[in-house]
Amino acid sequence: MAENNSDLTSNKLGKNPLPAGKRSSFPLLENENERLDALYSYHILDTTEEKDFDDLTALASVICQTPIALVSLVDKDRQWFKSHKGLSVRETARDFSFCAHAIISPNRAMIITDATKDKRFSENPLVTGETNIVFYAGIPLVSSDGFPLGSLCVIDHQTRALSDDQVNSLTILAKQVIDKLELRRKLIELDKANEKLKIFFTQLEADHQKLNESELKLRSLILQAPVAIAILKGPEHLVESANEKILKIWGKDKRVVNKPFYKILPAPEGDLFLKILRDVYTSGISYYGYEAKTRIKTHGEFKDGYFNFVYQPLKDDAGVTHSIIIIATEITEQVVARKEVSENNALLFATNHELSTSNQMLINTNHELGETQLKLKQAMETGKMGSWSINPLTFEVTMSDFIKELFGFPLTGKITMEEILLTIDPEYRQMLIEVLRNAILHHLPSDTEYSIIQRITNERKWVKATGKIFYDSYGVANEYSGMFMDITERKLDELRKNDFIGMVSHELKTPLTSLYGYIQILNSRAEKAGNEFFVGALNKSALQVKKMTTMINGFLNISRLNSGKIALQKQSFKLDDLISITLEDIKLIQHSHTVTFIPSPPLSIFADLDKIGNVISNLISNAIKYSPVGSSITIQYQVLDNLVQLSVQDEGMGIKREDIVHLFERYYRVENENTHLISGFGIGLYLCAEIIKIHDGKIWAESEIGKGSVFHFSLPL
Ligand code: ADP
Repeated sequence: MAENNSDLTSNKLGKNPLPAGKRSSFPLLENENERLDALYSYHILDTTEEKDFDDLTALASVICQTPIALVSLVDKDRQWFKSHKGLSVRETARDFSFCAHAIISPNRAMIITDATKDKRFSENPLVTGETNIVFYAGIPLVSSDGFPLGSLCVIDHQTRALSDDQVNSLTILAKQVIDKLELRRKLIELDKANEKLKIFFTQLEADHQKLNESELKLRSLILQAPVAIAILKGPEHLVESANEKILKIWGKDKRVVNKPFYKILPAPEGDLFLKILRDVYTSGISYYGYEAKTRIKTHGEFKDGYFNFVYQPLKDDAGVTHSIIIIATEITEQVVARKEVSENNALLFATNHELSTSNQMLINTNHELGETQLKLKQAMETGKMGSWSINPLTFEVTMSDFIKELFGFPLTGKITMEEILLTIDPEYRQMLIEVLRNAILHHLPSDTEYSIIQRITNERKWVKATGKIFYDSYGVANEYSGMFMDITERKLDELRKNDFIGMVSHELKTPLTSLYGYIQILNSRAEKAGNEFFVGALNKSALQVKKMTTMINGFLNISRLNSGKIALQKQSFKLDDLISITLEDIKLIQHSHTVTFIPSPPLSIFADLDKIGNVISNLISNAIKYSPVGSSITIQYQVLDNLVQLSVQDEGMGIKREDIVHLFERYYRVENENTHLISGFGIGLYLCAEIIKIHDGKIWAESEIGKGSVFHFSLPL
């Protein structure tokens, strides 16, 4: 440790204690920069004090008998003391440094016996000032590479001399200092080298890790690859890795790993491949094989297989091949297919020929179809028919020219639903809207007759339109379309016929009424006269007149219905009474069947007495008409919620399901071997349905062939 026994103080020896003008300059070596680099390479400046160095300065001070001994290192602008025996400061400015002079002659000691008399130092404040340096002896500290770094020096406040032994000893000590410095530098370099080694090892470890990972990846890639892959190592082509696909081609399992290739595909099959492998290994050039044929073992059986493959050399950094990677794709199916195709080519040619013949036929058929369509169009026009279609989603309407002309629409441009409805007779509009709704929402087919007022001529035209919903391949309704007919002529004929029937019926009714009156008068006279034959004959005449009256009433009603002249005369009456009276009337003239009214609780209803009576009598008459003699007919009614339901049941011939839906249409009669002898006009049920309809009721039938029928109607209460 440096002893603080000097009168030198750090304050007085600061870096620049003198004004610039008085500063001493110091000598510089030619290679000063290199010298400084050398000094810095020891990393010693500004380090803490060390016992080794302090021991050496202590020894120097004892040997030379001086109060001060220093290990001084000359920095760029200062001298710094690694050890400072007898001086409390650790550095002074280079300007005042004795050592800066000592290093100029690195090979010998610099000894200043009396600094006051040396012109280099006589004005040096360290000499002139309190520090009072008089004697100085410094041995330059020269590095192993020849750079003077500073000096080991001894200082005294009085003039004196050193013996040769003392100088030699000081030189040996200086050598010791240098050795210590060199040792230090070596240690630092070693540390650095160690550090580098450490980094290198860490890197190596990381690289190794990466290598392992990429090798693992490569292996798993090879194993999972959708093509056949194997890696063969070295000149013996030892199997390093092989995936399932290539093992399958070779007909081997995992035990082939580390075995040479010639053991996997032995001669003669393997010969060719072995030769290619050798060539690739020695030349370092890849080999590509196309459609190579080989025998593959599948399910224990050998079969021909075709492959495209590549043998690719894998090289090290120096470009020397160390392994070969084999990649093969099986193309057996394609090759076989191609062969089949070429075999089938002739067949294809023939088929092609047939196809072109069929095509020609198709063209002809198409042509014929076009002609047929044209004929159909003409036929439709002749028959006063057209076609129409409505898109159920957009309500877009398309119609043939015939319909457009009939309505008085222009032949080009779109026609809206609204325009169509406006052309339709207001009386039928609501009905048509209902029909349209039922078709689109409930997919019901339609068959309607209505009148329109032609837009240009204002003429009334009668039309009949049928329609049906069509579906796309997903079952979604995509078209509501059908046929359209101009039935004006038929309709006018019908109206004329109706008028005629109405008129005739009316004309017939009056004489019949008086005929019935005369028969009744004659009957009562015959009864009085006791002439039984006359009574019987007159009764039968009355029955026939009654039948005729009923029939004529029917016709009259029809004509009234058609001209919309039928009107209801509603009144309150007892339904049970009406049924009993109607039954009595029928029983007067019919004795062939057992007709029973199953007693029901009395019920008052508000309706047209005559017309409801007509309906009941019609249903009973039909039951009698279409049932075998001797069978039973039952009438009953029941109250359900707010309506009354009346039923007439028979044990007759029954009606087929397809006829039931048409029973209530005008003039509809079931035509079969059972009915052809039974006379009728097919208006009875139609009239019943119309009467019930205007009473806001419902009428329907249930029937089973050979077992009988039940006719029901219901009326709101
Ligand atoms: P029709 O004058 O022909 O009797 P309707 O309108 O009264 O005319 O009846 C229509 C058709 O319904 C008849 O032709 C008949 O085939 C069938 N029909 C009506 N009532 C019965 C019934 N009770 N049993 C079997 N068929 C019946």
